[in-house]
Amino acid sequence: MAVNQPNQIEPLREALRLASHGVKVIQIHAPTRRGCSCGRKKCGKSIGKHPLLEAWAEHATADSDTIRRMWEKKPWANVGVPMGNVNGLFAIDVDGPEGQETLQKWIQEHGELPATWQVMTGGGGMQMWYRVPKGIEIPNSVKKIGINVDIRGTGGQSVAPGSLHQSGSRYRWAPTRRPEDLKPADPPEWLVDKIREVIADQQQAKLAKIQTEEIHLSLSPKQWWAEWFSVHRREMMDPDFPRKLRGPWAKMPNQLARMALILHMTRVVCGEVEGNELDEISLHRGVQLVRYFKSHIRKAYNQLGKSLADKRIEEAVEWIRKRGGTVKRRDIVSYRVADCRKNSDADTLFEELTDCGYGVVKNQKPPRGGRTTVMFCLNDC
Ligand SMILES: [Zn+2]
Repeated sequence: MAVNQPNQIEPLREALRLASHGVKVIQIHAPTRRGCSCGRKKCGKSIGKHPLLEAWAEHATADSDTIRRMWEKKPWANVGVPMGNVNGLFAIDVDGPEGQETLQKWIQEHGELPATWQVMTGGGGMQMWYRVPKGIEIPNSVKKIGINVDIRGTGGQSVAPGSLHQSGSRYRWAPTRRPEDLKPADPPEWLVDKIREVIADQQQAKLAKIQTEEIHLSLSPKQWWAEWFSVHRREMMDPDFPRKLRGPWAKMPNQLARMALILHMTRVVCGEVEGNELDEISLHRGVQLVRYFKSHIRKAYNQLGKSLADKRIEEAVEWIRKRGGTVKRRDIVSYRVADCRKNSDADTLFEELTDCGYGVVKNQKPPRGGRTTVMFCLNDC
């Protein structure tokens, strides 16, 4: 890749200068007439700024022989300096007039920044390289630290002096801010605090994002779900289905979704599954739990229902016995025995009593005609 530039020696010279101060460098792409030396059309803002190698951080070197060999092969390559862990440096990247304004505000508020290595970018920006303070991992791109100001830390790299910018000018050291002039400074405490704040915000935002992440059902559990749902609906639509269970049953699909989700997350935490696709195993386990709950609700309901019915029958039998063992239907209604308010209620009660074997229903016809009297007689009377 030939880049038509008169001074191809500059990147190498600057790479060696940095290396002589213990700074590890990498080769990065350079702008060409057509765009970027990588040949891709979509480099956009990263034209001439992104590393040649994918595992660039591992290949960073401060060995002068290696550096010479690298630029012998690719003399056109720009110089990159991995920030953060690799070199123990981080960069404040100030971009354009807006970035300068942000910087001036900071200076007015906190005072001048300590003099340190400073790079004038080919595009009118500026970078200040500071030492990474102990006890903090400075990430790459601390967005929102200030308008048009960014931080380059671990995982990122900065374009070094000697590199060619898209504008045609080269990155240069600021006067009296070269490695020969001074050592990289420690950042002021207020700047570190600012970085810490932004990192905390970013982590919080990340957490919030995780909390609202959607979990999807993949195709096969989706079919499962549909099948389960239609069976569940049919169960509820059954005319014999107890009315009082309708409420809890109507909530079951939601409960199943919750349980399947909890089971899925438990498996994610245990490292059994990854990602946000809920599979049939989690759903199947949820269905099993719902089945268990359903059967136990029914059991409890039946027990409860039975004991209530038992009590009602017992009271009715006791009342009839006190009346001599035989009662007329209208007495049952007028005394509201077992809460019977109509003849039909009393008929139902008589039926229940008969079913339970307490006695028999008798229809007494008056000898001279007229209405039949419906009666219930206990067995032993
Ligand atoms: Zn490129």
